[in-house]
Amino acid sequence: MKAARMAATTPRLTRAPMRNTTVSTALFERAQSLFPGGVNSPVRAFKAVGGTPIFIARGQGARVWDADGNSYLDFLGSWGPLILGHAHPDVVAAVQAAARDGTSFGASTEREVLLGEAIRAAVPSMERMRFVSSGTEATMSALRVARGFTGRHRFIKVEGGYHGHADTLLAASGSGVATLGLPDSAGVTPGAVADTIVVPFNDEAAMQAAFEANQVAAVIIEPIPGNMGLVPPRPGYLPALRRLCDAYCALLIFDEVISGFRVSRGGAQALFGVRPDLTCLGKVVGGGLPLGVFGGQGDIMSAVAPEGPVYQAGTLSGNPLAMAAGLAVLRKLDQAAYDRLDALGQRLEAGIKEALATTSVPAQFHRVGSVFTLFFCAESVTDFTSAKRADVGRYARFFHAMLDRGIYLPPAQLEAGFVSLAHTEDDIDAFVAASREALVASR
Ligand SMILES: *Cc1c(COP(=O)(O)O)cnc(C)c1O
Repeated sequence: MKAARMAATTPRLTRAPMRNTTVSTALFERAQSLFPGGVNSPVRAFKAVGGTPIFIARGQGARVWDADGNSYLDFLGSWGPLILGHAHPDVVAAVQAAARDGTSFGASTEREVLLGEAIRAAVPSMERMRFVSSGTEATMSALRVARGFTGRHRFIKVEGGYHGHADTLLAASGSGVATLGLPDSAGVTPGAVADTIVVPFNDEAAMQAAFEANQVAAVIIEPIPGNMGLVPPRPGYLPALRRLCDAYCALLIFDEVISGFRVSRGGAQALFGVRPDLTCLGKVVGGGLPLGVFGGQGDIMSAVAPEGPVYQAGTLSGNPLAMAAGLAVLRKLDQAAYDRLDALGQRLEAGIKEALATTSVPAQFHRVGSVFTLFFCAESVTDFTSAKRADVGRYARFFHAMLDRGIYLPPAQLEAGFVSLAHTEDDIDAFVAASREALVASR
Protein backbone atom coordinates (compact mmCIF):
# COMPACT_ATOMS: atom_id res chain seq x y z
CA MET A 1 0.00 0.00 0.00
CA LYS A 2 2.69 2.40 1.08
CA ALA A 3 4.80 1.54 -1.95
CA ALA A 4 1.83 2.15 -4.26
CA ARG A 5 1.20 5.57 -2.71
CA MET A 6 4.84 6.52 -3.04
CA ALA A 7 5.00 5.39 -6.64
CA ALA A 8 2.02 7.59 -7.36
CA THR A 9 3.53 10.71 -5.77
CA THR A 10 7.24 10.27 -6.46
CA PRO A 11 8.55 10.81 -9.96
CA ARG A 12 10.71 7.87 -10.99
CA LEU A 13 13.76 9.97 -11.69
CA THR A 14 16.94 7.97 -11.94
CA ARG A 15 19.09 10.81 -13.20
CA ALA A 16 18.96 14.42 -12.05
CA PRO A 17 18.84 17.12 -14.71
CA MET A 18 22.23 18.45 -15.82
CA ARG A 19 23.40 21.45 -13.87
CA ASN A 20 25.39 24.16 -15.66
CA THR A 21 28.45 25.14 -13.59
CA THR A 22 30.43 27.17 -16.15
CA VAL A 23 30.52 30.45 -14.23
CA SER A 24 31.18 28.85 -10.82
CA THR A 25 34.02 26.83 -12.32
CA ALA A 26 35.60 29.93 -13.89
CA LEU A 27 35.28 31.89 -10.65
CA PHE A 28 36.81 29.02 -8.70
CA GLU A 29 39.81 29.07 -11.06
CA ARG A 30 40.42 32.74 -10.33
CA ALA A 31 39.74 32.26 -6.61
CA GLN A 32 42.34 29.52 -6.41
CA SER A 33 45.04 31.92 -7.54
CA LEU A 34 43.99 34.35 -4.79
CA PHE A 35 42.95 32.25 -1.80
CA PRO A 36 44.40 29.02 -0.40
CA GLY A 37 42.09 26.31 -1.69
CA GLY A 38 40.14 29.02 -3.48
CA VAL A 39 38.24 29.84 -0.28
CA ASN A 40 38.27 32.01 2.82
CA SER A 41 37.28 29.21 5.20
CA PRO A 42 38.42 25.63 4.53
CA VAL A 43 35.20 23.58 4.53
CA ARG A 44 33.79 25.76 1.73
CA ALA A 45 36.26 24.15 -0.69
CA PHE A 46 34.22 20.89 -0.97
CA LYS A 47 37.38 18.88 -0.16
CA ALA A 48 35.32 16.38 1.84
CA VAL A 49 32.82 15.79 -0.96
CA GLY A 50 34.88 16.54 -4.07
CA GLY A 51 33.83 18.60 -7.04
CA THR A 52 33.78 22.33 -7.64
CA PRO A 53 32.26 24.52 -4.92
CA ILE A 54 29.30 26.60 -6.00
CA PHE A 55 29.61 30.39 -6.01
CA ILE A 56 26.50 31.93 -4.58
CA ALA A 57 25.08 35.01 -6.24
CA ARG A 58 22.17 35.68 -3.89
CA GLY A 59 19.79 34.26 -1.34
CA GLN A 60 16.14 34.88 -0.58
CA GLY A 61 14.21 33.09 2.14
CA ALA A 62 15.02 29.38 2.06
CA ARG A 63 16.62 29.54 -1.38
CA VAL A 64 20.03 30.45 -2.84
CA TRP A 65 21.02 31.02 -6.47
CA ASP A 66 24.50 30.27 -7.73
CA ALA A 67 26.49 32.30 -10.24
CA ASP A 68 25.19 30.06 -13.05
CA GLY A 69 21.57 30.73 -12.13
CA ASN A 70 20.88 27.31 -10.59
CA SER A 71 18.71 27.55 -7.49
CA TYR A 72 18.87 25.41 -4.38
CA LEU A 73 16.84 24.97 -1.23
CA ASP A 74 19.39 25.89 1.42
CA PHE A 75 19.76 23.55 4.40
CA LEU A 76 23.13 24.97 5.43
CA GLY A 77 21.99 28.49 6.31
CA SER A 78 25.51 29.94 6.31
CA TRP A 79 26.48 27.18 8.80
CA GLY A 80 23.78 28.15 11.27
CA PRO A 81 23.25 31.92 11.54
CA LEU A 82 20.30 32.28 9.16
CA ILE A 83 17.44 31.18 11.38
CA LEU A 84 15.11 33.59 9.51
CA GLY A 85 16.43 32.56 6.10
CA HIS A 86 18.21 34.81 3.61
CA ALA A 87 17.62 38.54 3.30
CA HIS A 88 14.73 38.71 5.75
CA PRO A 89 13.09 42.12 5.12
CA ASP A 90 13.33 43.16 8.80
CA VAL A 91 17.03 42.34 8.93
CA VAL A 92 17.73 44.10 5.64
CA ALA A 93 15.81 47.19 6.78
CA ALA A 94 17.59 47.24 10.15
CA VAL A 95 21.02 46.95 8.57
CA GLN A 96 20.21 49.63 5.96
CA ALA A 97 18.97 52.01 8.65
CA ALA A 98 22.09 51.40 10.75
CA ALA A 99 24.38 51.87 7.75
CA ARG A 100 22.81 55.23 6.94
CA ASP A 101 23.80 56.41 10.42
CA GLY A 102 27.42 55.31 10.03
CA THR A 103 28.99 51.88 10.01
CA SER A 104 31.53 52.14 12.82
CA PHE A 105 32.61 54.62 15.46
CA GLY A 106 34.94 52.83 17.84
CA ALA A 107 32.71 54.27 20.54
CA SER A 108 29.61 53.08 22.36
CA THR A 109 26.15 53.22 20.79
CA GLU A 110 22.62 52.64 22.09
CA ARG A 111 22.16 49.46 20.03
CA GLU A 112 24.84 47.69 22.11
CA VAL A 113 22.80 48.34 25.26
CA LEU A 114 19.58 47.20 23.58
CA LEU A 115 21.05 43.96 22.24
CA GLY A 116 22.88 43.29 25.51
CA GLU A 117 19.64 43.67 27.44
CA ALA A 118 17.79 41.41 25.00
CA ILE A 119 20.47 38.73 25.34
CA ARG A 120 20.47 38.89 29.14
CA ALA A 121 16.68 38.64 29.25
CA ALA A 122 16.85 35.49 27.09
CA VAL A 123 19.95 33.94 28.68
CA PRO A 124 19.91 34.98 32.37
CA SER A 125 23.28 33.35 33.15
CA MET A 126 24.84 36.06 30.97
CA GLU A 127 24.58 38.73 33.64
CA ARG A 128 27.30 40.76 31.98
CA MET A 129 28.89 40.29 28.59
CA ARG A 130 31.14 41.64 25.89
CA PHE A 131 30.59 41.80 22.14
CA VAL A 132 33.27 40.60 19.74
CA SER A 133 33.21 39.96 15.99
CA SER A 134 33.32 36.15 15.72
CA GLY A 135 32.71 32.94 17.60
CA THR A 136 36.45 32.35 17.64
CA GLU A 137 37.02 35.57 19.55
CA ALA A 138 34.23 34.73 21.98
CA THR A 139 35.66 31.34 22.97
CA MET A 140 39.26 32.54 22.99
CA SER A 141 38.34 35.45 25.24
CA ALA A 142 36.09 33.41 27.55
CA LEU A 143 38.93 30.99 28.09
CA ARG A 144 41.32 33.84 28.89
CA VAL A 145 38.80 35.17 31.41
CA ALA A 146 38.46 31.72 33.02
CA ARG A 147 42.22 31.40 33.34
CA GLY A 148 42.61 34.96 34.60
CA PHE A 149 39.78 34.59 37.10
CA THR A 150 40.84 31.23 38.55
CA GLY A 151 44.61 31.77 38.25
CA ARG A 152 44.89 28.27 36.74
CA HIS A 153 46.31 27.33 33.34
CA ARG A 154 44.77 24.04 32.30
CA PHE A 155 41.39 23.53 30.72
CA ILE A 156 39.43 20.56 29.42
CA LYS A 157 37.73 20.24 26.04
CA VAL A 158 36.13 17.23 24.41
CA GLU A 159 37.33 15.33 21.38
CA GLY A 160 35.53 16.60 18.30
CA GLY A 161 34.45 19.79 20.05
CA TYR A 162 35.14 22.82 17.85
CA HIS A 163 35.57 26.23 19.43
CA GLY A 164 36.97 28.30 16.60
CA HIS A 165 40.57 28.50 15.49
CA ALA A 166 42.47 30.00 18.44
CA ASP A 167 45.76 28.14 19.00
CA THR A 168 44.98 26.71 22.44
CA LEU A 169 41.68 25.31 21.21
CA LEU A 170 43.00 23.61 18.08
CA ALA A 171 43.44 20.18 19.57
CA ALA A 172 41.17 17.32 18.50
CA SER A 173 38.71 19.89 17.28
CA GLY A 174 36.27 18.17 15.01
CA SER A 175 34.79 18.86 11.59
CA GLY A 176 36.95 21.29 9.61
CA VAL A 177 40.14 19.94 11.10
CA ALA A 178 39.08 16.30 11.09
CA THR A 179 37.79 16.65 7.55
CA LEU A 180 41.21 17.76 6.42
CA GLY A 181 42.66 14.75 8.20
CA LEU A 182 44.92 16.89 10.34
CA PRO A 183 45.30 15.64 13.91
CA ASP A 184 46.17 19.21 14.83
CA SER A 185 47.14 22.28 12.90
CA ALA A 186 50.64 23.03 11.72
CA GLY A 187 51.82 26.26 13.27
CA VAL A 188 50.26 25.51 16.64
CA THR A 189 53.20 24.96 18.95
CA PRO A 190 53.24 22.17 21.52
CA GLY A 191 53.47 24.94 24.11
CA ALA A 192 50.19 26.47 22.93
CA VAL A 193 48.24 23.28 23.60
CA ALA A 194 50.31 22.05 26.57
CA ASP A 195 47.53 23.07 28.96
CA THR A 196 44.73 21.75 26.77
CA ILE A 197 43.33 18.47 28.07
CA VAL A 198 41.16 16.49 25.67
CA VAL A 199 38.66 13.85 26.84
CA PRO A 200 36.00 11.89 24.94
CA PHE A 201 32.53 13.44 24.80
CA ASN A 202 29.70 11.91 26.83
CA ASP A 203 32.22 10.19 29.13
CA GLU A 204 31.75 11.36 32.70
CA ALA A 205 34.45 9.09 34.13
CA ALA A 206 37.08 10.46 31.73
CA MET A 207 36.09 13.99 32.70
CA GLN A 208 36.37 13.16 36.40
CA ALA A 209 39.78 11.57 35.88
CA ALA A 210 40.99 14.70 34.07
CA PHE A 211 39.85 16.83 37.01
CA GLU A 212 41.64 14.56 39.48
CA ALA A 213 44.92 14.69 37.56
CA ASN A 214 45.02 18.43 36.84
CA GLN A 215 44.48 21.90 38.25
CA VAL A 216 41.60 22.83 35.97
CA ALA A 217 40.57 26.42 35.21
CA ALA A 218 37.58 25.48 33.06
CA VAL A 219 35.70 23.00 30.96
CA ILE A 220 34.76 24.40 27.57
CA ILE A 221 32.14 22.43 25.71
CA GLU A 222 29.38 22.71 23.13
CA PRO A 223 26.42 21.54 25.25
CA ILE A 224 24.98 20.05 22.04
CA PRO A 225 28.04 19.37 19.87
CA GLY A 226 27.43 20.26 16.25
CA ASN A 227 30.91 20.03 14.81
CA MET A 228 31.32 16.25 14.84
CA GLY A 229 27.93 16.14 13.24
CA LEU A 230 25.11 16.75 15.69
CA VAL A 231 25.65 14.53 18.76
CA PRO A 232 23.36 15.29 21.71
CA PRO A 233 24.62 14.82 25.28
CA ARG A 234 23.57 11.72 27.21
CA PRO A 235 20.96 12.41 29.92
CA GLY A 236 22.82 13.50 33.03
CA TYR A 237 26.09 14.36 31.27
CA LEU A 238 25.76 18.16 31.42
CA PRO A 239 24.57 18.17 35.07
CA ALA A 240 27.58 15.97 35.89
CA LEU A 241 29.89 18.56 34.33
CA ARG A 242 28.25 21.24 36.46
CA ARG A 243 28.83 19.17 39.61
CA LEU A 244 32.47 18.44 38.71
CA CYS A 245 33.21 22.11 38.01
CA ASP A 246 31.64 23.07 41.33
CA ALA A 247 33.53 20.38 43.22
CA TYR A 248 36.87 21.46 41.77
CA CYS A 249 36.16 25.22 41.72
CA ALA A 250 36.52 25.34 37.94
CA LEU A 251 34.37 27.32 35.52
CA LEU A 252 31.90 25.70 33.14
CA ILE A 253 31.98 27.42 29.74
CA PHE A 254 29.18 26.59 27.33
CA ASP A 255 30.12 27.27 23.73
CA GLU A 256 26.63 27.98 22.42
CA VAL A 257 27.80 29.51 19.15
CA ILE A 258 25.55 27.03 17.33
CA SER A 259 22.93 26.21 19.98
CA GLY A 260 22.40 29.76 21.30
CA PHE A 261 19.06 31.20 20.08
CA ARG A 262 18.87 28.10 17.84
CA VAL A 263 17.55 25.23 19.97
CA SER A 264 15.50 27.58 22.18
CA ARG A 265 15.50 31.28 23.02
CA GLY A 266 17.59 30.47 26.09
CA GLY A 267 19.86 28.08 24.17
CA ALA A 268 20.92 24.62 25.29
CA GLN A 269 21.32 25.79 28.89
CA ALA A 270 17.57 26.49 29.05
CA LEU A 271 16.75 23.21 27.31
CA PHE A 272 18.83 21.13 29.75
CA GLY A 273 18.44 23.33 32.84
CA VAL A 274 22.19 23.63 33.42
CA ARG A 275 23.61 27.07 34.22
CA PRO A 276 27.16 27.64 32.96
CA ASP A 277 29.51 30.25 34.44
CA LEU A 278 30.36 31.65 31.03
CA THR A 279 28.57 31.39 27.69
CA CYS A 280 29.82 32.05 24.16
CA LEU A 281 27.41 33.06 21.42
CA GLY A 282 27.80 33.70 17.71
CA LYS A 283 26.04 32.69 14.49
CA VAL A 284 22.26 33.25 15.12
CA VAL A 285 22.81 36.19 17.49
CA GLY A 286 24.49 38.15 14.69
CA GLY A 287 21.73 37.61 12.15
CA GLY A 288 24.26 36.83 9.41
CA LEU A 289 26.67 39.62 10.26
CA PRO A 290 30.03 39.14 12.00
CA LEU A 291 29.20 38.98 15.71
CA GLY A 292 30.19 36.99 18.76
CA VAL A 293 29.44 37.48 22.46
CA PHE A 294 30.86 36.05 25.65
CA GLY A 295 29.44 36.66 29.07
CA GLY A 296 28.42 35.18 32.37
CA GLN A 297 28.36 35.68 36.09
CA GLY A 298 28.90 39.31 37.04
CA ASP A 299 31.91 38.84 39.32
CA ILE A 300 33.69 36.71 36.72
CA MET A 301 33.09 39.28 33.97
CA SER A 302 34.49 41.98 36.26
CA ALA A 303 37.87 40.41 35.56
CA VAL A 304 37.69 41.84 32.02
CA ALA A 305 39.54 45.09 31.16
CA PRO A 306 39.09 47.92 31.95
CA GLU A 307 37.42 46.71 35.18
CA GLY A 308 39.85 43.88 35.70
CA PRO A 309 43.22 42.50 34.64
CA VAL A 310 42.13 40.31 31.67
CA TYR A 311 42.82 42.24 28.47
CA GLN A 312 40.30 41.99 25.64
CA ALA A 313 39.51 44.51 22.90
CA GLY A 314 38.27 44.99 19.33
CA THR A 315 38.13 47.90 16.87
CA LEU A 316 34.83 46.73 15.38
CA SER A 317 33.39 45.15 18.56
CA GLY A 318 29.73 46.06 19.06
CA ASN A 319 29.55 47.04 15.40
CA PRO A 320 26.34 48.99 14.66
CA LEU A 321 25.35 46.86 11.66
CA ALA A 322 25.82 43.61 13.58
CA MET A 323 23.89 45.01 16.56
CA ALA A 324 21.03 46.04 14.27
CA ALA A 325 20.89 42.64 12.58
CA GLY A 326 21.02 40.82 15.92
CA LEU A 327 18.20 42.94 17.35
CA ALA A 328 16.04 42.36 14.27
CA VAL A 329 16.51 38.59 14.49
CA LEU A 330 15.96 38.32 18.23
CA ARG A 331 12.66 40.22 17.89
CA LYS A 332 11.34 37.38 15.72
CA LEU A 333 12.38 34.53 17.99
CA ASP A 334 9.39 33.93 20.27
CA GLN A 335 8.11 30.56 21.46
CA ALA A 336 5.91 30.27 18.36
CA ALA A 337 9.04 30.53 16.21
CA TYR A 338 10.72 27.66 18.05
CA ASP A 339 7.53 25.57 17.93
CA ARG A 340 7.42 26.16 14.18
CA LEU A 341 11.10 25.21 13.75
CA ASP A 342 10.54 22.05 15.75
CA ALA A 343 7.45 21.11 13.70
CA LEU A 344 9.45 21.54 10.48
CA GLY A 345 12.30 19.53 12.00
CA GLN A 346 9.87 16.77 12.99
CA ARG A 347 8.44 16.65 9.48
CA LEU A 348 11.93 16.36 8.02
CA GLU A 349 12.85 13.65 10.53
CA ALA A 350 9.72 11.59 9.83
CA GLY A 351 10.25 11.88 6.08
CA ILE A 352 13.92 11.00 6.07
CA LYS A 353 13.39 8.06 8.44
CA GLU A 354 10.73 6.68 6.15
CA ALA A 355 13.05 7.15 3.18
CA LEU A 356 15.83 5.35 5.04
CA ALA A 357 13.52 2.48 5.90
CA THR A 358 12.23 2.05 2.35
CA THR A 359 15.73 2.21 0.85
CA SER A 360 17.35 0.09 3.61
CA VAL A 361 20.29 2.48 3.88
CA PRO A 362 22.09 2.07 7.21
CA ALA A 363 22.12 5.49 8.83
CA GLN A 364 21.59 7.41 12.06
CA PHE A 365 19.47 10.54 11.95
CA HIS A 366 20.10 13.01 14.77
CA ARG A 367 18.01 16.11 15.37
CA VAL A 368 17.55 18.75 18.03
CA GLY A 369 14.84 21.19 16.94
CA SER A 370 15.96 22.65 13.63
CA VAL A 371 19.50 21.19 13.66
CA PHE A 372 20.19 17.77 12.13
CA THR A 373 22.82 15.34 10.87
CA LEU A 374 22.38 12.19 8.82
CA PHE A 375 25.26 9.85 9.67
CA PHE A 376 25.86 7.04 7.19
CA CYS A 377 26.66 4.26 9.64
CA ALA A 378 24.87 1.30 11.15
CA GLU A 379 25.98 1.81 14.77
CA SER A 380 24.80 4.57 17.08
CA VAL A 381 26.86 7.76 17.28
CA THR A 382 27.62 9.06 20.78
CA ASP A 383 31.04 10.69 20.50
CA PHE A 384 33.78 11.66 18.04
CA THR A 385 35.14 8.11 17.69
CA SER A 386 31.74 6.72 16.70
CA ALA A 387 31.00 9.76 14.49
CA LYS A 388 34.20 9.09 12.55
CA ARG A 389 32.92 5.60 11.66
CA ALA A 390 30.39 7.21 9.32
CA ASP A 391 30.91 6.49 5.62
CA VAL A 392 32.26 9.78 4.24
CA GLY A 393 32.36 8.42 0.68
CA ARG A 394 28.68 7.65 0.79
CA TYR A 395 27.98 11.07 2.28
CA ALA A 396 29.92 12.70 -0.58
CA ARG A 397 27.80 10.83 -3.15
CA PHE A 398 24.62 11.69 -1.27
CA PHE A 399 25.65 15.35 -1.06
CA HIS A 400 26.18 15.61 -4.82
CA ALA A 401 22.99 13.67 -5.60
CA MET A 402 21.11 16.18 -3.43
CA LEU A 403 22.89 19.17 -4.97
CA ASP A 404 21.93 17.91 -8.43
CA ARG A 405 18.32 17.79 -7.20
CA GLY A 406 18.46 21.37 -5.96
CA ILE A 407 19.14 20.74 -2.26
CA TYR A 408 22.15 22.40 -0.64
CA LEU A 409 23.53 20.50 2.39
CA PRO A 410 26.70 20.86 4.48
CA PRO A 411 29.61 19.80 2.23
CA ALA A 412 31.01 17.34 4.80
CA GLN A 413 29.62 14.39 6.78
CA LEU A 414 30.59 15.62 10.25
CA GLU A 415 28.60 18.86 10.10
CA ALA A 416 25.05 19.90 10.93
CA GLY A 417 22.25 20.98 8.62
CA PHE A 418 19.77 23.69 9.55
CA VAL A 419 16.09 24.35 8.92
CA SER A 420 15.03 28.01 9.00
CA LEU A 421 11.77 29.85 9.57
CA ALA A 422 11.78 30.61 5.85
CA HIS A 423 11.33 26.93 5.00
CA THR A 424 7.81 25.75 4.27
CA GLU A 425 6.24 22.31 4.58
CA ASP A 426 6.62 22.04 0.79
CA ASP A 427 10.36 22.75 1.10
CA ILE A 428 10.69 19.97 3.68
CA ASP A 429 8.73 17.61 1.46
CA ALA A 430 11.00 18.53 -1.47
CA PHE A 431 13.99 17.67 0.72
CA VAL A 432 12.47 14.30 1.58
CA ALA A 433 11.53 13.48 -2.02
CA ALA A 434 15.06 14.36 -3.17
CA SER A 435 16.54 12.24 -0.35
CA ARG A 436 14.53 9.22 -1.44
CA GLU A 437 16.17 9.41 -4.86
CA ALA A 438 19.59 10.50 -3.59
CA LEU A 439 19.76 7.63 -1.08
CA VAL A 440 19.32 5.22 -4.00
CA ALA A 441 21.62 7.14 -6.33
CA SER A 442 24.41 7.25 -3.72
CA ARG A 443 24.38 3.56 -2.87
C1 LIG B 1 31.27 28.26 14.33
C2 LIG B 1 31.71 27.93 15.70
C3 LIG B 1 32.71 28.65 16.37
C4 LIG B 1 33.55 29.69 15.68
O1 LIG B 1 32.81 30.78 15.27
P1 LIG B 1 33.41 31.69 14.07
O2 LIG B 1 32.44 32.81 13.99
O3 LIG B 1 33.48 30.82 12.87
O4 LIG B 1 34.77 32.13 14.52
C5 LIG B 1 32.95 28.37 17.69
N1 LIG B 1 32.26 27.41 18.34
C6 LIG B 1 31.30 26.70 17.73
C7 LIG B 1 30.55 25.68 18.51
C8 LIG B 1 31.01 26.91 16.39
O5 LIG B 1 30.10 26.14 15.78
